[in-house]
Amino acid sequence: MNPDKQVLILSGTGEAFALATLLFADGNYRVINSLAGRTKAPVEPPGEIHMGGFGGAEGLAKYLRSEVISAVIDATHPFAVQISRNAFQACNAAQVPYLQLHRPAWEKAEGDTWLPVANLDAAAELIARSNFRRIFLTTGRQEVKPFAELEDRWFLLRSVDPISDLPLKNFDTVLGRGPFYEQAETQLLNEHRIDSIVTKNSGGPATYGKIAAARKLGLPVIVIQRPAALDCNHVGRPADAVKWLKQLI
Ligand code: NAP
Repeated sequence: MNPDKQVLILSGTGEAFALATLLFADGNYRVINSLAGRTKAPVEPPGEIHMGGFGGAEGLAKYLRSEVISAVIDATHPFAVQISRNAFQACNAAQVPYLQLHRPAWEKAEGDTWLPVANLDAAAELIARSNFRRIFLTTGRQEVKPFAELEDRWFLLRSVDPISDLPLKNFDTVLGRGPFYEQAETQLLNEHRIDSIVTKNSGGPATYGKIAAARKLGLPVIVIQRPAALDCNHVGRPADAVKWLKQLI
């Protein structure tokens, strides 16, 4: 194996999957996909799989050196801040080129009622001050704690794996793995008499269906803004990440 062609993709998104597919098909790279291991049966991208964390920035730097990784493409979710910080730091320490692949954020369109907030706490505070009663909380099952005190509201959550314990008083859950399209999302919102939605501004088509459905139904959407970007090389599309890699190696 040519040690100059070993690429670590920090994965967990559709873009990471698409990138792995392109690089694997190219045939010139050893593709290692790193997954956090949060879902029980993840859809595994083509190439090798590294499951679970590295042990912080130091652990990752050690891994980069021992596996002679020649480039890291961070295609994690735009809100997965910790792993990106670690990767940026580890790449600097191990002198490995680092690229961030983040899909562009969604833009508000005509007919949208968006209530932008800075973070999850601000979203919960906004709900406390509002008359929203039945809320579709799409921020992820691990991030419901800020909403725990809203005992007089009802929440709908969706997850890939069944959820057992949640720190919420009134809620229901549905199972589902994206992509989620407008028609089915409209049906879900109607069935559960949802009056508002909380979402991160994740960007990309896979979860845009709820935004389009909310527009159609005239529902307000509390939109958590993107975290501050790292000062690094970045692209928005898998094909551009391949171009970057080809210029590099
Ligand atoms: P995070 O808070 O940024 O990272 C926490 C820790 O999890 C990291 O320090 C790292 O552990 C480990 N980790 C995270 N992503 C990893 C990866 N791709 N490969 C190996 N280890 C990883 O992460 P998160 O926000 O919980 O997201 C976890 C995963 O879910 C990411 O892969 C992300 O792409 C995906 N995801 C996140 C969101 C979201 O809204 N945050 C949404 C959809 C998908 P060590 O320090 O031990 O290395």
